Amino acid sequence: MTLPDLASEIQKPEPEEIDEKIQLGLHYLAHNAGLKGRPSGNERCSNCRYYLEPDEPLSYCWHMKLRILVDDDWWCRWWQGNEWGLTEAPSK
Ligand code: SF4
Repeated sequence: MTLPDLASEIQKPEPEEIDEKIQLGLHYLAHNAGLKGRPSGNERCSNCRYYLEPDEPLSYCWHMKLRILVDDDWWCRWWQGNEWGLTEAPSK
């Protein structure tokens, strides 16, 4: 008696249609914003007024054309200085 080949019977996870739809939408947003996964000089998400939680390494960007999670070291063309200028948020 041979055992069933369990590895071939277990389905590998695959992206679904909804994932491709979301990916396309995010790609469009990122392209419009010129979103980069790195700072531009001293400008970065963590010192932008739209970065909701300046002390967190990942936070929500509330810019009306984005409204996505971003990394504190990213940057986009809609960057605007926060109330502390180019510095990081004051430590608590
Ligand atoms: S507007 Fe741009 S630079 Fe500012 S937090 Fe959002 S993605 Fe980052």
